[in-house]
Amino acid sequence: MHPVLNIVDSAAIMAGLALFYGTFRRHIRHLALQHALLGIAFGLGAIASMLQPILTIGSVIIDARALFTGFAGAFLGLEGALAALAVAALGRLSINVSSAAFLGIVSMVISTGAGLFWQRVKPPAGKSWKCLAGLGAMVSLSYSTLWLVPELKGSVPIGSIALLTTYNIVGSVVLGTFIYREQNLQNREETALEAAATDPLTGLLNRRGFSQQFAEVEARQSARGSSLLLIDIDHFKSVNDGFGHAGGDEVLRVTADRIRRAVRPQDTVLRAGGEEFGVLLNDIDEPGARISAERIRALVSEPYRFSDGRTVKVTASVGGFCWETGSVPERIAADTADLALYKAKADGRDRSVFALRPAA
Ligand code: GH3
Ligand code: MG
Ligand code: MG
Repeated sequence: MHPVLNIVDSAAIMAGLALFYGTFRRHIRHLALQHALLGIAFGLGAIASMLQPILTIGSVIIDARALFTGFAGAFLGLEGALAALAVAALGRLSINVSSAAFLGIVSMVISTGAGLFWQRVKPPAGKSWKCLAGLGAMVSLSYSTLWLVPELKGSVPIGSIALLTTYNIVGSVVLGTFIYREQNLQNREETALEAAATDPLTGLLNRRGFSQQFAEVEARQSARGSSLLLIDIDHFKSVNDGFGHAGGDEVLRVTADRIRRAVRPQDTVLRAGGEEFGVLLNDIDEPGARISAERIRALVSEPYRFSDGRTVKVTASVGGFCWETGSVPERIAADTADLALYKAKADGRDRSVFALRPAA
């Protein structure tokens, strides 16, 4: 193949692998599986490289496979490294079974190991082109096995090795830049999604985040049922009046923290808006939900001391509703708990009231 076409081809393979990298990372949450599948893709990249060698001498194939196996080691952990190595080794053996093939596999073990080693020793924030060039140089150490090939009779083609090492260094910078770009895009996407689902004042989920969580929790059938508690601080306006809006905000943050601490780690807490919070308790029966509601009320009503020494004590009203998991849509659960909350307010506040049946 013409060297220019070879370079164009390799660039296309690298771009394709970077695309796979981004897609698999987004859609396959199981890390070991994600790494193993990506490892297979990188192994196929190595095979593609073997099919367009820079040089063949007898049964010896000299090509840029080291870049792909090295990258699997550097970016896909041990699972990905082993998967890439297995695929690339099988690919090499399918071309011919010879002592040269065996040495080729040894060279891939070296490049994969170099990638794994690079990941361990590089600076944690080392995403510069220099670090990537270093990776390209390290994986090129795998060509040292060529000196062991008897067929080459000591005449190792230094020019080809220099060419391949240059190819690996440039390729490493290009492929690494593609991969880091994918990582950055994904990190930004995750940060934006997280921000869209979170209340900035308290760090709790907002309604949008809660809806996603509600669907997930309800999809997991639980033996004892689910419960929604809506918690509204009583006479919160007077807190704002007495301590200013900033003081009110601080009370909201503390209240959020107390509600979080009053429930189990697997329960979902949200800020429904203003001074109203919600908790989705999963796998819980009605007596358990009532105990949780009272625990929340007790903790929320403990006096709070501001940094200037002044103290404030608030109470809360709670509306609760329990149902068999998966039997009630979110809207109905929320409306029912809201009616119970309304009743708790009407009955004099500072209490919890549970609805017995879903609101129509
Ligand atoms: P009730 O016992 O009936 O619930 O009385 P309340 O005063 O708590 O209820 P109301 O709904 O009349 O007023 C809620 C107040 O919460 C009014 C609003 O200014 C305040 N508030 C809403 N969001 C925020 C916020 O983010 N920060 C602060 N500091 N205050 C807020
Ligand atoms: Mg209120
Ligand atoms: Mg309110």
